[in-house]
Amino acid sequence: MICAKCKEPKAHRSHSSGLKDWAYKIFQMIPYRCHACKARFYAYRSGEQSPTMRTGEERKIMELRRRIRWKRTKKELVIYAAGAVLMISFLYLVMQQRVE
Ligand SMILES: [Zn+2]
Repeated sequence: MICAKCKEPKAHRSHSSGLKDWAYKIFQMIPYRCHACKARFYAYRSGEQSPTMRTGEERKIMELRRRIRWKRTKKELVIYAAGAVLMISFLYLVMQQRVE
């Protein structure tokens, strides 16, 4: 993360603790700590993807992660679809045998 104060790409997610962090969390804001200037600030969870907050390298990693996740989802869908087809054909067979 790029620090909101000194603009150095040295901010990392800070452990949330206390009532204040908890309150911010409700509004989807996560505490960050800058290792360059030691500033603590909050950023929107969705804002993590904004180019002003992220370095190019981080954006690349996030893009890659998103692609991997999508690939996994597609694979799961194929497995579920195959399973559903098997189930239906099995039920169909069972029902046919009962009719006879
Ligand atoms: Zn800083």
